Formats: sequence, C-alpha cells, structure tokens
Amino acid sequence: MKDYASAPYRIKMVEPIRQNTRAEREKLLEEAGHNPFALRSEDIYIDLLTDSGTGTMSQNQWGAMMQGDEAYAGSRSFFRLERTVLDITGYKYFIPAHQGRGAEQVALPYFVKKKGMAFISNMHFDTTRAHVELAGARAIDCITPEGLDTETPHPFKGNFDNEKLTRLIEEKGEDNIAGIILTVTNNSAGGQPVSLENMKETKRIADHYRIPIIIDGARYAENAFFIKQREKGHSKRDLKDIAREMFALGDLFLMSAKKDGLVNMGGIITIKESEALFEHCRTSIVPLEGFPTYGGMSGRDMEATAVGLSEALDEEYLEHRTDQVRYLGDKLIEAGVPIQTPTGGHAVFVDCAAFAPHIPYDAFPAQSVVNQLYLESGVRAVEIGSFLMGRDPDTKENLKSPFEFMRLTIPRRTYTYRHLDHVAEGVKAVYAKRDTLKGYTFAYEPPVLRHFTARLEPL
Ligand SMILES: *Cc1c(COP(=O)(O)O)cnc(C)c1O
Repeated sequence: MKDYASAPYRIKMVEPIRQNTRAEREKLLEEAGHNPFALRSEDIYIDLLTDSGTGTMSQNQWGAMMQGDEAYAGSRSFFRLERTVLDITGYKYFIPAHQGRGAEQVALPYFVKKKGMAFISNMHFDTTRAHVELAGARAIDCITPEGLDTETPHPFKGNFDNEKLTRLIEEKGEDNIAGIILTVTNNSAGGQPVSLENMKETKRIADHYRIPIIIDGARYAENAFFIKQREKGHSKRDLKDIAREMFALGDLFLMSAKKDGLVNMGGIITIKESEALFEHCRTSIVPLEGFPTYGGMSGRDMEATAVGLSEALDEEYLEHRTDQVRYLGDKLIEAGVPIQTPTGGHAVFVDCAAFAPHIPYDAFPAQSVVNQLYLESGVRAVEIGSFLMGRDPDTKENLKSPFEFMRLTIPRRTYTYRHLDHVAEGVKAVYAKRDTLKGYTFAYEPPVLRHFTARLEPL
C-alpha cells in the first residue's frame, strides 16, 4: 500500500491542549459515572469522541462568515447556501436545519402514514433510529453480511443486503414500509462506504415497490471518494459527478453539516422534487427549528457551510483525511489489535468483542476498553455497541448489537499523525492488559439514547 498523504494545509491558529496525570484521570472518570460523555473536554488530551462539529474551519470559511446576513427571512446567506446545495445534489428544494437530527425530526414523520410502519436502512444512525421511533415507526437494519465480519476485508462493507431487503418488503407488505434509508457512509458499521452498484440495486427494488429513498448523507463526500478509489470504472471520474449520481438515486437527502459540511453546527434538508414533502417540511420546521430560510442556522454559519461543502469534495483533502484513518488503523493492526478492516472514512473501529471476549455484551466490553484507554492515555473514544443500542421497546431486554466497537473518531483537519501515534500507544497499553478489563452495570439508565447520560458501575 502507498505511503500516507501529507497534509494539504498549514496550521495558523492553535488551541492549547494538556495532558493530565493518571491519578487525576482515575478521579475524573469515577466522577463521570464511568461514562466519558460526562467528562469535560479540558480534561482530555486527544478527543476522538466524534468527528461531528469538531473539525477545523479554513481561512475561506472564516472569511465567508464575515458576510453572514442575519435576516430572519430571506437572508442572502440562505440563498448562497441554497445555490451550493442544489448545485451539488441536483435537487429542487432546500431547507436548512440546526443539525442532522433537526432535519430528521422535521422530515421523517412525513413518511409515517399509519401505525405499524417501518423504515429499513443499511444501518440507522442512533439519532435517526430515535426519530424513526418518535415518529411511531420501527427501525430495521439490513446490512450486508460482509459488514458484520470485521476480520475479512471487503471494499464496501456499508452495503445494503438487497436480497434481505426484498424479503423484508415481501414479508411486511410494501404499504407498511415508510421509506428506505441509505446511510452513506455507513457510520455505525465502521464508516464503511456503500458502492454505486449496490445503491442502484436498492433503487431498483425501491422503484419496484414504490418506496421512497432517503439518503442520510452526513459523509457523502467520503463515500464518493471511496467509490472513486475502490469501485471499478470510477477511478477517473470527478467526485462531484460521482456524488451527483448518488443523489440521483434518492428522493430526499438529509445531512448533518457537522461532518462533510466542515462546520461546527448545521444541517441540511434537500428534496429532489416532491412538492408535498417540501410543503410538509416548510410547515413543520417553523415551530421545531425556525423559519424555513434559516431553520436554526445563523447567516454566518450558512456562509461557512456553503464554503465547507465545496472544500469537502476536494480530493487532496479527502486523501489526507482517509489516510489519517488508515494510518491509525495500520498501527493497531501491526500491534495485533482487532479492528474493522479495511478502515473507513472517519474513524478506526476497534472490535472489542474480540478484544475482551470475556466480557458479555450486556456488560459492555467496548465501554470497558474506552474507559481504560482514557485512564492510560487521556484519549477519549466512544462505544458503538450494545450500550448505545439500548433496549427492545416491547420486551425492555438489552438489545445485542451486531458489533461491540470502540470508535476512534478523527476530527477533520485537526490532529497530526504524531497525535495519532499517541493514540496507538494508548490502545496498545490497554491491549497488553486486556485480560484484566471488567464489565459494567447501570447505576442510572435514562429511557432513550441512554449512552449519553447513563452512569455506570464496574462489575
Ligand atoms: C451525525 C449523524 C446524524 C445526526 O446528525 P447531528 O448533526 O449529530 O444531529 C445522522 N446520521 C448520520 C449518519 C450521522 O453520522
């Protein structure tokens, strides 16, 4: 494999970070209820909790912010962002939202026409799952079997299992399917991309049964880049062209601009052509997010998003970004640490079911690895497994996630390769004492999205 790309930028503003002591971290983690979501970021050396809203903006984005038009209605910044979004997607209607979940909250209820309907996705992101359920529908995941096998490489582990999709639709009846949600890249499965070929097959099935396709495209630019790199016949294409082809397969595009929008806050609702859906969103957004020409975003943020969306499609930027992920992944593979391979777009996913097989799923093995990593190195990662998954809404049993991942999420344009060396050293230190890791039980468990605010006790 080729070398790792050097950064296509230089750093002209720095934010100091500091390393605290092991003894301080022991105390802080205890006070946080063994849940790093409750830690203060100033108590963290390298924060790999998320790539959401944590990236670094460019001088062009900061410059554009000075041109923000803060009008409540019809601001110039809205029209600028609208032009950019419609140009990238080829869609007809655009409404901003304060972030991705705001867009979900506004748009998803439109598709739930009666009780007992379901959305089927290659994999629902956690807030998407929550909004599906809040809208009174069920969320069904339908990922390709290769995506579940962390050890065997496959270029498109985010793919839909299209045979199972057809079977599910036949079983439930097409009238009971509210929509098909295409998550690109597939965040929860390891930032794994979805191939164009796979998306086209999903589209063929959706058309056959007249089911709408919703693209949950927070990382659409990373997905387009992987299609160019990994899928036959696309290596010479312009990324914008590949992205356009992806968007042509959807009816609605929802996006957290905090990812491939390269901003710290923002969300996007884009509708291909349905006037009825546009009317629904334009009406719903007012009480939930704000007037349809700002939807929770300030004019200056809309300016920064318009610039960020274009920068995120730059190939040199994407090469360096995905190489940072690959670099950290390679360091861990060299040390024998089990990870989802190949690495995807935004994070290294450590397979903690294999890392700590002595901890059962409902004692949260990945949470145990996350906590130990913080103690060892001051690095904050996040659990993507049964702790996040929650409970069955009917039986209240702990759901068993298909994965027990520790996600090491890399913010955009923020850390250097040397920072990633420190992360790798920390993970290696935890791996060396993996047999001593202990599971957790709840001291406090909130009813929804429990992983954000739960408090845990070691077993
Ligand atoms: C982050 C994310 C969301 C939610 O967006 P927020 O901006 O965090 O509200 C939805 N879907 C996917 C795939 C995401 O990664």
